[in-house]
Amino acid sequence: MVNLQTTVVEFQGVKALSGKFNRLGNHFSFFVYYVDGLLIDTGPVFARETVAAFAESMRPKAIVLTHYHEDHSGNAAYLHDRLQIPLYMSRRTAERLAEPLILPFYRRVVWGAGEPVRGEPIGERLTLDGRVFEVIPTPGHSDDHISLYQAERRLLFSGDLFLGRRLRYGMREESIADMIASLDRVMAYRFDALCCGHAGFVPDGREALKQKGEFLRRLEASTKALAEKGLSARQIARRLLPKGYKVRFASLGEMSPVHLIRAILADRRTDVTDFF
Ligand SMILES: [Zn+2]
Repeated sequence: MVNLQTTVVEFQGVKALSGKFNRLGNHFSFFVYYVDGLLIDTGPVFARETVAAFAESMRPKAIVLTHYHEDHSGNAAYLHDRLQIPLYMSRRTAERLAEPLILPFYRRVVWGAGEPVRGEPIGERLTLDGRVFEVIPTPGHSDDHISLYQAERRLLFSGDLFLGRRLRYGMREESIADMIASLDRVMAYRFDALCCGHAGFVPDGREALKQKGEFLRRLEASTKALAEKGLSARQIARRLLPKGYKVRFASLGEMSPVHLIRAILADRRTDVTDFF
């Protein structure tokens, strides 16, 4: 078993179960949020008992997943069944989770996969107890990703849109063009703080997302300039993201600076009309 450490923290009326653990020599963290009747994300499978205890004590009326990744969806089927409450997600997330997730070895070892589940498409807005959550398409980290905005609290629940002010490595499925467009999209909402799936509460969330957008734009420009000079993705990654190589080695290549550079060069864009 893993040495999982969990605590419950509170911030601006939001409660969060924060989990930390080590695996394969790396540190990992995850957050499950509860606010105004809503449970946001469900944590990884191996934290099931702790997440279920947290969820039951909060008595949520609905669950939302920000995206399909196993560290967010691991207990979705279990909690949906146990609590007998609606489970909402984007249409793409629902399509993925209807089937068993096939995970690369590293992600299977670190997080494990949950059971398939039938989720309900979320729509543009979710109202619970008179509180409105606006649903914002935010693909980039994955192509099914959504964020939730709560106007009265001026809070953004950003799933894995933020993660950090800079990225040193990426995953194969990411799109940096989508990520930049998503960061611009959320700026239209009047939030100050954000709740991140791995970094937790970020009080200056707006500023932090702005910095991430600026970092990605600079990285994109430098990457394209070096590619035009004939450098390969590997050469560009070595030059622009030298600090990301430790993670590449430790994650068996699953997370790598080269994936991030390739994602910039591939320039894939997701259509966000009809997203939900
Ligand atoms: Zn993720």
